Amino acid sequence: MNIVAVYARVSTVEQAETGYSLATQLDACRKRAAMLGAKKIEEFVDDGYSGEFIDRPALTQLRKMLANNNLSAVIVYDPDRLARNLAHQLIITDEIEQAGAQLLFVSVSFEQSPEGKLFYSIRGAVSAYEKEKIKERSMRGKRGKAAQGKIIADAKPFGYTYNKEISNYEINESEAQIVQQMYTWLTEEKIGTATIARRLNEIGVPSPRLKKPWIVSAVYRLLTNPIYRGTHVAMRYRYQKVSLNKRIRTLRPESEWIDIPVPAIVDTEVWQAAQSQLKANKSLAKRNLKREQLLSGLVYCAQCGRKMTITYAGKATDPKSYYVCMSQRSNSYIYTEKERCRARRIPCELLDQTVYEHLYQLSKNPRLIKQYLSNRPHPANTKNFITAIERLQDNEVRLVKQREMVLRWYRQQMIAEDEAERQLKEISDRINDVGRNLAKIREEMEIFSPNLSQKEIITAVTKHFALGDHSYEAKRAAVHQVLKKVIAERTDTTKAKASRPEIEVELKFT
Ligand SMILES: [Zn+2]
Repeated sequence: MNIVAVYARVSTVEQAETGYSLATQLDACRKRAAMLGAKKIEEFVDDGYSGEFIDRPALTQLRKMLANNNLSAVIVYDPDRLARNLAHQLIITDEIEQAGAQLLFVSVSFEQSPEGKLFYSIRGAVSAYEKEKIKERSMRGKRGKAAQGKIIADAKPFGYTYNKEISNYEINESEAQIVQQMYTWLTEEKIGTATIARRLNEIGVPSPRLKKPWIVSAVYRLLTNPIYRGTHVAMRYRYQKVSLNKRIRTLRPESEWIDIPVPAIVDTEVWQAAQSQLKANKSLAKRNLKREQLLSGLVYCAQCGRKMTITYAGKATDPKSYYVCMSQRSNSYIYTEKERCRARRIPCELLDQTVYEHLYQLSKNPRLIKQYLSNRPHPANTKNFITAIERLQDNEVRLVKQREMVLRWYRQQMIAEDEAERQLKEISDRINDVGRNLAKIREEMEIFSPNLSQKEIITAVTKHFALGDHSYEAKRAAVHQVLKKVIAERTDTTKAKASRPEIEVELKFT
């Protein structure tokens, strides 16, 4: 129910004057209330009371009613009617706002007047000060709690259960065993985080993210978290709400961190060894990257069309490299289990050799290249692609506008937060769809519009082999010059380790 309160006051002196009569005040306030669409108007009138004192019968009644939280607005002719001094004005204003009601003044000139400007700026400053004070107080509370060795907020670390009574963590035995296992794998078998994640998923160990597989970053975070050696670091991050449903996390300076002792799950020495091993793995991975694979960046999965990236398996000291469909990377959590394709990974060495060998055969027989290239769809017209791209771009613009509109509606309180969030999510899903389609079309367009002519490709291939430079750099340059895509698939189904994998390859020239 929309109940609006109206407050009017005249002092004994003012009673004699005409300008400030109760009738004038009440009349103006009632009109304002009607404009607001008030269903019921409660009138509070202090006739013959000075604004010097806050203790006035009608005002006291109004303040009592405010406490019941059922007023939507309080209308007063001007702040002077409410109280004669600023401090009282601010107190009453605060009470009204605390009660969830709106304070409205009829006199339009008030806001522009020097008194009005002072009133609003002081009110703003006071409320900002209040907010800061509350924040500071809660911060101080948190720090105090942490300084006493108590956990401020349960971050639900894997391996622990929060005990409310002691405000600290207790070891969760079954999860702690998994944590210990992970540290052992890293420090004794010296395997990498990706392998650890895969192992955990293969064994079917439940991850901290319920029902979702382990991802590399989660494994890495767990193996670097000092909590497992018995120190929880509190006040490490600062969280800020930046928009409707986005919060950003920033690292606080180390001097602000507070160490809280918790029960350790691994020995300090093991934890230290794990940190050194992670560092060693990192530099090994870097070395591996340098020994890049011939076709990296060119290989696509024949089953689902996604790019294949390089992955390492085996011991960290002797990793074997594979091309693996992107949808299966253990860290590609963007793909759900359903979206992951079943294509088998292909040993890099095998595919690199096969493709290079094939190019060699072609170089000896340019007619074969011609045959190959005649299958290449002619770039008849790229017009269709351009139209499609333009249509998608228009779509994107429309969606972005729609998003702005929803945000505006939300800010103007025309829609509720959950409704706004639902709509924003839907829009962002659609924007993502458009983005994906755009990328797909752009990529197709590239294939249909070759960079090199038949003749140029033949020349490049034959020239490379004629020069006889089979250094890695020369090979890589040649391959990347003439090939745009290598679409590959492992076709044998044998699982035995010694059996030689069979692959099928389709080349797309630039
Ligand atoms: Zn695939």
